[in-house]
Amino acid sequence: MGRRVLSASIKHETNTFSKLLTGLDAYRSRGLHLGDAIAPVYLGTNSEVAAHFDAAAENGWDMVPVIAANAVPSGKVTREAWEYLSGELLAAVDDTYDGILLALHGAMVTEVDEDGEGALLQAIRDKAGPDVPICVSLDLHANVTEEMAQNASGLFSFRTYPHIDTYATGKRAAEALQAAMEGETAPHCLVARRPQIDGANHGRSQDGPMIGLLRRCKEHGAEGRIVDVSVNGGFPWADIEWAGPSVTVTYDNDKDGAADRAREIAESMMDTVWEERANVTIKHLQVGEAMDRIKAAGSGDKPIVLADFSDNPGGGSYGDNPTLLAGMIEADLQGAVFGTIADPEAVIACQRAGVRGTVKIPLGGKIDPDFVPPLRVTGEVVAISEGGFTYEGPMATGMRNTMGPTVVLRIGGIDVIVTTNRLQVLDLAIFRSQGIDPEEKQIVAVKSAHHFRGAFGPIAREVLLVDALGLATPSLKSLHYENVRRPVWPLDME
Ligand SMILES: [Zn+2]
Repeated sequence: MGRRVLSASIKHETNTFSKLLTGLDAYRSRGLHLGDAIAPVYLGTNSEVAAHFDAAAENGWDMVPVIAANAVPSGKVTREAWEYLSGELLAAVDDTYDGILLALHGAMVTEVDEDGEGALLQAIRDKAGPDVPICVSLDLHANVTEEMAQNASGLFSFRTYPHIDTYATGKRAAEALQAAMEGETAPHCLVARRPQIDGANHGRSQDGPMIGLLRRCKEHGAEGRIVDVSVNGGFPWADIEWAGPSVTVTYDNDKDGAADRAREIAESMMDTVWEERANVTIKHLQVGEAMDRIKAAGSGDKPIVLADFSDNPGGGSYGDNPTLLAGMIEADLQGAVFGTIADPEAVIACQRAGVRGTVKIPLGGKIDPDFVPPLRVTGEVVAISEGGFTYEGPMATGMRNTMGPTVVLRIGGIDVIVTTNRLQVLDLAIFRSQGIDPEEKQIVAVKSAHHFRGAFGPIAREVLLVDALGLATPSLKSLHYENVRRPVWPLDME
C-alpha cells in the first residue's frame, strides 16, 4: 500500500466590501465536486488539483480526493456554504493519513471567521494530529495569518501574476509533502509582514519589485535548511485584521538554525516589500482620457485592449458596472467588443426578443443600484447561447467554465457579451465561444485587472487600464475600513 494522502481544495477570494454574499449556488456555478467526480474535471488541466493527481500517480500514493470547490470572488462566504464545504472536508479527516495536500486561496472571509483558511487549517490539524505534514498551495494574493502558518507544515504560493503556474505550484507543495512523508524533512512554516495592506506592486510578476523578490525566493529556497520561500502581494479589498502582503518561509525544523535563518530571510524580504511599497508600475486612466487616447490612436491591425480595472469580478467586484460601456457608446466606437456585463434579467429580455430582435432595456447596475445604476440601452440581439467555454490561454488551461445563459447585444459599433454568471474575462475563448474573434476587432474591452494580459497581451496593439468605478478600486483610501489593524499603509500614511 502506498502512502495515504488526503487531497482537497476549497477556494475563495473574498471582497468584504461586496454586498453579494457567496452561497453554495456560487460554488455550484463555478465548480463544486466531491470524491470520484473531481478527477474527470481537473485531470490534464493547468490547476493545482491536477498536480495532486499526477503526484499521487508518480509517488504511488493511495490518495483520497475529498472536495474541489471554487467560486468567483465576491462577498463573504455564507455560514451555510461554509458549514457545508468545511463539513465535507472535515468529515474525511482523521489521524490515519500520512500526509494532507491542500489547494486553498488564502484570502477567504466567511460569515463565521474573518480568516477562513486559518480556521480550516486549525480544525484539520486538530483532527489529523500534530505530526502529519500538511502542505498547502496558495494564491499569491493570499492574506496569510499566524494561524495559517502555525497549522500548516508548509505554504507554497503562486509565483506568477497572471497566475500561469498553478499546476507547478501544486507540484511544489506535493513534492514537499513527499519529502516530509519520506522523513527527509520536517517542514515548519513562518510568516512576516509589515503595517501595509498593499504592496509588492500587487504581485505583478513581470516588472517592478517582484522581479527581485521572486529571484530571492528561488535563491533562498535552494539553501539546504529552507524548503520554500513565497512572497504574497496580499488582497487589500478584505477588511480584516491581517490583510496585506507577506513573506512565508517553509523550513526544515530538523536542521540546526533553520528557524532562525527562515525568520532572517522573511524579515529581510519584507524590509524590501515595505521600502518598495509605493513602487507601482501601472497607471489608470479615467474613461474620458481612455476615449481620447483611442480616438487619437486611430485604427490599426491589432486591437487596443481596454481593461475595466476596478469592476474586475476577479477581485470581487460586481462585474455589472456599465460605466466604461457608457463611455464607449458615447464615443461611438466602431469595431468594438465588450466582455462582459453580468445581468441575468437582460439576458432573459434578449432571449425573448430572439436573434435579430431589438431590445430597449436597462443594462447592468442591478446588483447594487445605489453603487451604480443601470444604463438604458437599445440594441440588436446577434447571438444567444448557453455560455459554456474551455480556457485555451495560459491560465486555467483546459478547464471548463460557464457564463450561464449568454447573449451578444449589438449597441452601435459595440458587441456586448451579456452573461448570467459573473466572471473575469481572461481568455480569448470567452469571445470565440460567442462567435467573436477578438483579434479582428479594433477595441476589446475586458472586465479584468491584470490576468487578461496572459491571453490578450499578445494580441494587443496597446493596453489601457481604466478606473471606471468598482469595488476593486485602486483608491484604497476611498473605502471604509473598520477591522484592519491601524495604523496601516496607505490608509494612515503617505
Ligand atoms: Zn490572485
